[in-house]
Amino acid sequence: MSGRTEGGAVERPHPPIGLFNLDTSHALGIGLPYGSMPAQPLVDLTKQAANLCATEIRLAPGRALLFLGLSPSACASLQATATTVGFVTSAADPRTRIAACPGTPACASGRIATRDIAETIAKQSPDLFDASLTLHISGCAKGCAHPGAAALTVVGDENGAGLVVDGTAKALPAGYRPGYDAARGVAAIAAAVRERHPGETAAACLARLGAANVAELYRRNQ
Ligand code: SF4
Repeated sequence: MSGRTEGGAVERPHPPIGLFNLDTSHALGIGLPYGSMPAQPLVDLTKQAANLCATEIRLAPGRALLFLGLSPSACASLQATATTVGFVTSAADPRTRIAACPGTPACASGRIATRDIAETIAKQSPDLFDASLTLHISGCAKGCAHPGAAALTVVGDENGAGLVVDGTAKALPAGYRPGYDAARGVAAIAAAVRERHPGETAAACLARLGAANVAELYRRNQ
C-alpha cells in the first residue's frame, strides 16, 4: 500500500523483487537500479532467462522486471547472475528507496553525480531506509526521477548539493555540501535516525527532528 508518511512525503510501495510461487510455476522479480542498466548485462540476463525456459518478461511497479515460468532452481540461478552484475535482487536493497536521475555527466543540465552519490549512500547508510522513507537525488531542480515530494531530496545547483527536507527538487534547499561530499551529509542524518524512538519510522523521526535540524546535520558532518 502506498500512502502519506508522517513527514508528508508520499510513501512508495516496495517493488515485487524476489521469488514468487505462482501455483504451477515460479517467477523472479529483479529491479533495475534507479530504473536503468547498461545494455550488455540486460541482454545477457534475458538470454540466460530464455535458456532457463522463462516464458515471459513483464514490467512491474518500482522499476522491476518479472521473469515468469521458471523452476525454483532456474530462479536461483538467474537471481545469482543478476546479483553479480549489479541488479537489485533483494526487496531490502536500499536502492529500492532511492530515486536518482542520470545527473552528471550523462545529462547536460546535471550539477552533481547523482548515481555515484546514490551508490555511496546505499553502501554507507543502508539502515536509513525503511518503508517510510524515499531519498531523491536530482542532478538539477527539474526533478525528472521523482517529481513529487520525498522525505529527503539532494539536489544539485550552482552552490553544490542542496538538501530539501520533505519537499521536491524545486524547493529551496535548507543546507548545502560540495557535490562530491553529499553522501557524508546523508550519513550524519542516518546516524541520527539510528537513534530514533522505539517503533518510530525513519520519516516520523525526521519530522520530529524538524527540517532545520536535519539540514544542520547534513551541512555540518565532517
Ligand atoms: S533532473 Fe536535471 S540533471 Fe536530472 S535528468 Fe532531469 S534535467 Fe538532467
